Amino acid sequence: MYKLEKLIRPNIWKLKPYSCARSEFVREGKKKDEHVYLDANESPFNSPKNRYPDPMQKELKEQIARVKKVKPSQVMIGNGSDEVIDLAFRIFCEPRRDNVVAIDPTYGMYQVCADINDVEYRKVLLNPDFSLDGERLLRATDIRTKIIFLCSPNNPTGNLLDRDEIHRIITHWEGIVVLDEAYVDFSNQPSWVKELNQYPNLIILHTFSKAWGLASLRCGLALASEEIIHYFNNVRYPYNINTITQEQILLYLSMGEDLKNAWAKKIVEERDKLIDALKKVDIVERIYPTDANFFLIKVPDAVYVHNELIESGIVVRDRHTVSLCDRCLRITVGTQEENERLIEALQWIKMPSMRAYL
Ligand code: PMP
Repeated sequence: MYKLEKLIRPNIWKLKPYSCARSEFVREGKKKDEHVYLDANESPFNSPKNRYPDPMQKELKEQIARVKKVKPSQVMIGNGSDEVIDLAFRIFCEPRRDNVVAIDPTYGMYQVCADINDVEYRKVLLNPDFSLDGERLLRATDIRTKIIFLCSPNNPTGNLLDRDEIHRIITHWEGIVVLDEAYVDFSNQPSWVKELNQYPNLIILHTFSKAWGLASLRCGLALASEEIIHYFNNVRYPYNINTITQEQILLYLSMGEDLKNAWAKKIVEERDKLIDALKKVDIVERIYPTDANFFLIKVPDAVYVHNELIESGIVVRDRHTVSLCDRCLRITVGTQEENERLIEALQWIKMPSMRAYL
């Protein structure tokens, strides 16, 4: 049976978190600027940048909760979802003892965070068509497995993982499931956030870095049960989200989701046009189906094509060393003009063997 106490590291379970000067004081009825702040060793000069950000991120959490349709107590805000991934290891995994299981290939930071935290990282290959075999994933777990990492749509493969397989994993597994939905806004499937309350062991990752177009602000989310989020908030740095980021994200949230949705729609349209054009390019042997704002293409020699594109001033991601991605490049969808530059550059690239015949 799922029991959070069995999953959280004992030191974290009993941690007394750092209490910031300002979060200790709450006086109802008084406005923020009616107080004299002599509690946090800040400078009295250079207002308002002299003040620490709100450590509780109260307003931001409320607005995120409104948009995501969860309770503010179900939201942990991270310095990018990369911070959330690292925190998951620090909260649940005892170094050199516990392990995590993840699909392979997937987003590289899960393994990097495992390595940094000295936690065994078990990879389970996706099927050759990049679909998920939930049974195989579950077989790789043991008594020391704390977290299963899933990413849907998956990076770098671009595809959504099958809902029934995800459901099977969350319900048959008594540990934590981290489901990274960084690219869900580009897909035609709803987020799992709607079903969050049915699954006490599920942690969903969202980010403002993709469809929201706010990667520079560094803001990502863990959405989970109140019980789990409590520990994330205890372990994160007290001021992990700076004031400018808090203000800017609030500004974008106040406009609702329309702008983000319109951008996502435009990117998907451009993606489909780009894919159609690339089907006619000689050196593109295969284009993989995608539900994200990027996709994989197979070319005769990924290193060669990558370097030729760099010569033309175009940077794509070489993924040929990644499992199941032999000879693959990952292409992020840009603006119409950027995509046209890519198409033209690819049309001009001649593989060395093809050149011999010219
Ligand atoms: N998850 C996935 C699947 C990603 O591809 C990325 C970034 N490439 C992240 C998380 C990290 O996003 P953030 O900018 O929120 O740290």
